Amino acid sequence: MYNADTSSQKVDLGIGAYRDSQGKPWVLPVVEKAEKILLEQRGRNHEYNPVMGDAGLLKGAARIMFGEGSKVLEENRVCSIQTVSGTGGLSVAAAFLKTVYPGVKKAYASNPTWGNHKNIMETFGMEYGQYSYWNKATKGLDYEGMIRDIHSMEDRSIVILHACAHNPTGVDPTRQQWDGIAQAIKAKGHFVIFDTAYQGFATGNLDDDAWAIRRFIEAYDMEMIVTQSFAKNMGLYGERCGVLHVVSANAQVSQTIVSSNLAKSSRSIISSAPRYCGAIASIVLNTPELFAEWKQDCLNLEMSARIHKMRKLLLHNLVKLGAKEEEWSHITSQIGMFSFTGLNEQQVDILIKKYHIYLTSNGRISVAGLNEGNVEYVAKAIYEVST
Ligand code: PMP
Repeated sequence: MYNADTSSQKVDLGIGAYRDSQGKPWVLPVVEKAEKILLEQRGRNHEYNPVMGDAGLLKGAARIMFGEGSKVLEENRVCSIQTVSGTGGLSVAAAFLKTVYPGVKKAYASNPTWGNHKNIMETFGMEYGQYSYWNKATKGLDYEGMIRDIHSMEDRSIVILHACAHNPTGVDPTRQQWDGIAQAIKAKGHFVIFDTAYQGFATGNLDDDAWAIRRFIEAYDMEMIVTQSFAKNMGLYGERCGVLHVVSANAQVSQTIVSSNLAKSSRSIISSAPRYCGAIASIVLNTPELFAEWKQDCLNLEMSARIHKMRKLLLHNLVKLGAKEEEWSHITSQIGMFSFTGLNEQQVDILIKKYHIYLTSNGRISVAGLNEGNVEYVAKAIYEVST
């Protein structure tokens, strides 16, 4: 609908991809440098990747997820495989768990969640359920509901958690709440899949955005699956770069039964993962200057900071028009690329038809679609439809 709209005022807040201040897709300079290194130093190579994927990518990806020198990595308890971005990671996770998980083959995700979780789980033979997450009244986390639902799932179920920058709500648990969630999950013996599509987008810091994952491992000694996407944080969307990590109780299990079953699950779906993006991400992660640049320029300065700024500007403009700050403060307290505005389907419909502003019917906006040129217009439209 956005593409077909000929209005010069049209705004796309539906996109799940980062846009720069001109509303254009952004190729990270550090990725361009890595591409140059790849072609100049390694030359063209279109052979297959090994079944487990690009070894440099796997190592670098595990390092940023679990932390340099972390106990799980030192103890060789992480088995990693390259995937077709985050979606592919979740698919392999489901196929793998369907084969080897001895507990209940029912995966629960938050209500609401990214639209593909149900699809993927059911496609790969899992049952699917939801746990409470969004509190309509507070426009924040329904923590009590979430804990209650975790307790009422059958023991040893599978719980999908968004590691950071929850999609679509932009609401993440606090550190204290994460502890409560871990304790509830542990008490019920559930198995966690941490879906990590936005590492670096929530706080601008890779380590902080992996906090919950590291906490679950270090403080609660949990085995788990972590799916990791480089679509957003490296801007490699269409190249389909991702890694799946399985954290096991010991190296023996990790490097034998987990490794062979992961390979088997992945082979049956994709044979091997895309080579080009794996090499690019590997160069970025393993070349110290490029890695430093990626962390600094891309995450701290450019992407997450621009999104924070747009959140502030949207709130500022709404308040300027007369909106009550306390009714809209969730815009700035939510984090990551998305904001769950609280607008209902009818209001969204007016935004689309009257104002040419496109967003999903659940009221989610992609904050990356805002820029200095359109934020005032968007604020005015939101104010008008909601008063
Ligand atoms: N999980 C969540 C929560 C997401 O928002 C997304 C992307 N929209 C993904 C997984 C997977 O994305 P991709 O396959 O492009 O890495």
